[in-house]
Amino acid sequence: MSDSPELQGRVAFITGGATGLGLEMAKTFGRRGAKLVLASRDEAHLEAGEEELRSEGIETLTIPLDVREARSVRAAVKQAHLHFGSLDILVNNAAGNFVRPAERLPEKAFANIVDIVVNGTFYASRAAGNLMIAQGRGVILNIVATYAWTGGPGTVHSATAKAGVLAMTRTLAVEWARHGVRVNAIAPGAMETGGASARLWPSDELEERVRSRVPLGRFATLEEVAHAAGYLVSDQAAYITGECLTIDGGAWLGRGVLDADPEQGILKVIRRQ
Ligand code: NAP
Repeated sequence: MSDSPELQGRVAFITGGATGLGLEMAKTFGRRGAKLVLASRDEAHLEAGEEELRSEGIETLTIPLDVREARSVRAAVKQAHLHFGSLDILVNNAAGNFVRPAERLPEKAFANIVDIVVNGTFYASRAAGNLMIAQGRGVILNIVATYAWTGGPGTVHSATAKAGVLAMTRTLAVEWARHGVRVNAIAPGAMETGGASARLWPSDELEERVRSRVPLGRFATLEEVAHAAGYLVSDQAAYITGECLTIDGGAWLGRGVLDADPEQGILKVIRRQ
């Protein structure tokens, strides 16, 4: 895949942009000409992320930020706008997740994930959206997950929060279309990131189980997901708004009622006949 400069001069603000998928999107956008703002809590993450981008010659600003604090989010967006003179792209990527049966999930833990994912996305969208409305253009990209519509047993906190963000995506897309602001989402399938691997499939056996449920037979690479994100935030996607692009190797579609598992399901039986 080529890295053409279709984001030349654009300023992209990515929450949780210093690790995992956030950092990969930052690199992909930067290689296409964008300037980056990385905003998250951990200064060590921010320093390491900034160093990686700078080593590729990508202009970068880092801002320590907890997206649960509305005032800090407004201040961070303002700081980015003052520093670079515009704000063209916002990616709401910051999130938290872990596996816990709902009946044992403390109310506080549920509220915390909703706070990061739903409130954080709204605070950043509202702050950046106001600047974008004044500019008459802008793009917001929200990172959700397919359990926003399938449900996510074991992760009711995250599934509920991502469903809220999907509704927010479609709502703001319509409200802000007349201001030239597009709002979309992507729903990646399982990806190997430090955050996900340790908390969601902490053993080789579990990882293999997750992989075996993907029709394409493997996890997404971060590059594949970041390239899809890069397309949606570029002018090539100028007529796409309110959409959610799934990048999961067919995983959420499942194998149908007859179970099309290549090793054990109906197709294996039919082929044997
Ligand atoms: P990750 O590396 O753990 O990324 C999460 C990021 O969010 C971190 O950079 C973290 O940075 C930041 N963050 C967490 N709480 C924050 C807060 N209160 N304020 C500001 N930043 C905060 O995990 P990832 O796998 O790359 O996930 C990236 C996105 O993809 C998430 O939205 C996730 O839900 C989504 N996703 C992941 C998968 C997967 O399989 N990996 C699948 C579907 C969707 P600090 O610690 O520095 O704050």
